[in-house]
Amino acid sequence: MSRQLENHVVLVTGGASGIGRATAQRVAADGAAVAVLDRDGDGIAETVKLVEATGGRALACPADVTAEGDVVAAVAGTTEAFGALSGTVTCAGIFHPGDLARAQDVTLDDFVHVLGVNLTGTFLAIKHSLPHLVERRGAVVTIASTAALRGHGQGPGYTASKGGVAALTRLLAVQYGHDGVRANCVCPGAVDTPMTGGAFATPEARERMRRHVPLQRVAQPDQIASTVAFLLSDDASHVTGQTLTVDGGSTAL
Ligand code: NAD
Repeated sequence: MSRQLENHVVLVTGGASGIGRATAQRVAADGAAVAVLDRDGDGIAETVKLVEATGGRALACPADVTAEGDVVAAVAGTTEAFGALSGTVTCAGIFHPGDLARAQDVTLDDFVHVLGVNLTGTFLAIKHSLPHLVERRGAVVTIASTAALRGHGQGPGYTASKGGVAALTRLLAVQYGHDGVRANCVCPGAVDTPMTGGAFATPEARERMRRHVPLQRVAQPDQIASTVAFLLSDDASHVTGQTLTVDGGSTAL
């Protein structure tokens, strides 16, 4: 594998699981020092172990993305350990069952809770990374969802939060382009992670995939991580403000 992120320092929120863990592993394999931010301490420890087992460098950053002080401390700890950040990837997110109801039945608490983690948490991680990203002419990669692009049955909070993440990413590309900072948003379709809880293992789910995904399968987290690694790298040096869908073609139908 090429070492296209040599000398990079990348903060990955939600790095204790799923897409975030795969991203931490991938960017470390590409040469970056990686800070693993999450509220799940055991999951962080496992990710750090996996990165170190393959010769990578990783720092545990236990933090809640909705708590600004936690995020500030995580960024400070990362820069102290590895130097200024060159990349921030925002994977921390939740999917909340109460948010799956029709809009009129979703409680304000559930709506605000999902927005708080998925959108405000994304904002906070980026806000406190930006001074470093400006210094290093770095890159932001946000993780939204195909829910940002169409009303395909996720809840109001999730859908609004992901639409907000995609819009925020475009704004960042414009606000920070003259600083040489790039910002791009990845919209995964269905990915096999703890968030989806093995939901793709049933014959019915496999049949749904066959009908609704041209590539006829659910993604594995490393297939999202490889796209993130590309967007962080110099191979994407003229790519900014983009929303890149990684969904096996489902939104092309
Ligand atoms: P996951 O549940 O495996 O990982 C999410 C991680 O975020 C967990 O480690 C969790 O502890 C962390 N997290 C949640 N709230 C947090 C908080 N307040 N502070 C810090 N960490 C917090 O899920 P995943 O599937 O890997 O999802 C990663 C991202 O990808 C999410 O934003 C999700 O919405 C998005 N996504 C997932 C899919 C899918 O099918 N799995 C599809 C589209 C988009």
